[in-house]
Amino acid sequence: MTLTSQTLEREIHRIGVEVAAAFPSAARHPMRALDTRAIEMASADAELRAALFRFVDVAPACRSLDDLARHLAGVLDEVPETPPPIAAAMRISHTKAGRAALGAAAAGGVRHLAHRFIVGETPRSALGVLRHLWDRGVASTVDLLGEATMTADEADAYARRCADALRELSSPVGAWPSRPLLERDGSGAVPRANLSVKVSALTPLLRPDAPALGRRDAAARLRPLLAEARDRGAHIHIDMESLDSREAVLGLVLELLAEPEFAVGPSAGLVLQAYLRDSGEQLDQILEWAASTERAAPLQIRLVKGAYWDHELAESRQHGWPAPVYEIKADSDRNFEALTQRLLAARPSVRVAIASHNLRSVAHAIAVNRLLGSSDSELELQVLRGLGDELQDALARQGFRVRTYCPVGDLVAGMAYLVRRLLENTSNDSFLFRTAQGESLDVLLAPPAA
Ligand SMILES: Cc1cc2nc3c(=O)[nH]c(=O)nc-3n(C[C@H](O)[C@H](O)[C@H](O)COP(=O)(O)OP(=O)(O)OC[C@H]3O[C@@H](n4cnc5c(N)ncnc54)[C@H](O)[C@@H]3O)c2cc1C
Repeated sequence: MTLTSQTLEREIHRIGVEVAAAFPSAARHPMRALDTRAIEMASADAELRAALFRFVDVAPACRSLDDLARHLAGVLDEVPETPPPIAAAMRISHTKAGRAALGAAAAGGVRHLAHRFIVGETPRSALGVLRHLWDRGVASTVDLLGEATMTADEADAYARRCADALRELSSPVGAWPSRPLLERDGSGAVPRANLSVKVSALTPLLRPDAPALGRRDAAARLRPLLAEARDRGAHIHIDMESLDSREAVLGLVLELLAEPEFAVGPSAGLVLQAYLRDSGEQLDQILEWAASTERAAPLQIRLVKGAYWDHELAESRQHGWPAPVYEIKADSDRNFEALTQRLLAARPSVRVAIASHNLRSVAHAIAVNRLLGSSDSELELQVLRGLGDELQDALARQGFRVRTYCPVGDLVAGMAYLVRRLLENTSNDSFLFRTAQGESLDVLLAPPAA
């Protein structure tokens, strides 16, 4: 069937309405996951948003609550009109005891939100939540929090945590009950254990001016992880981070997966970021690789819009470079839809996962998949824990394979993750923010406006 825009739009609307009706309760909506006052402050004050972005950059390097508080106070100090609770917090940050108190308060706030976004401090302690999801028809991928790595020892520690996670996840999941939709598609078995990995945490040497160096260093830690995943029948997914590491990450993953020892496994995946203007060319490169590389399990491509939009824009402005990301939200949305169509048409040489909380983007993928004559089980939909819970339940209830991205880690590492999610979802263009503002379903499901 050809995808005439009229047929497609009608289907998207129908599917979107159906999925919205399957949300667990009309009274609950995704933004309830974020603290209301934090949202109000972060969305209303541009200076505060900028300060929080700077905080996210330094938070992963913090070693203790004291450290965290000092950095938080440092970035907030630069906000000209600090909101009163923050001003009060900063006054106490000038002494060690005060900083510890501020750190503890920050940690308290994080703890309050954390259980919605972070499923446990360790993979072992997360198993209960992962099993509960599975029982409700939802698959998962575990992300070990703790981003940018500064030293070789930290990179070794992250690699060890990943290897431990693969071991700790892959044996208990064998005892879980059978869920055919979550475990098989037209290309074969879909592993139950699934780990998302960040290359920036596997090497301290990932630098845009010397991509080969970072790539070599990361390869030495990624290769044993791929072997571990292959031997345990687990899936490894490589997350995509900011643009300055993309070339190294893509080159590294495609090179390693093409090695003969990985031809039989593991099942593995990459991420494509639709907010990048050149993402179509990146997809060309991936599809060319997929067509010329014999592997038992097709590479899975997780399509996202991209989590580093503000960072990419700020970085390019600072250097006077043209923006690598679209600057109009509808352009990212349109590109997401164009890439969705290309990816779905490229199967079976790749597996496709559509990762979005935007009902329009998700309904579009479901509609295109059906209009291409494919069954729903050939499409995977992915959401983030804490932000996509209702969408996850609605989609699972309607018989789709949903995978929830489940961060695991401690509070210090969790802070950067939480602030990033907060900032991303308090931007006026964000789908979740527009939903929370009471935008009608017809408007939310309309094609991306010109
Ligand atoms: C399971 C899962 C895994 C993920 N893994 C990754 C990953 O590895 N790497 C990564 O980068 N992200 C990742 N993400 C995050 C993802 O990129 C963000 O959740 C996503 O950008 C939010 O998009 P949305 O479709 O849910 O919401 P929407 O509200 O529809 O889109 C918001 C997005 O649009 C883009 N945008 C916002 N304003 C503008 C503008 N003015 N002009 C142009 N574009 C704009 C930004 O990308 C912003 O994040 C993942 C998400 C999920 C659900």
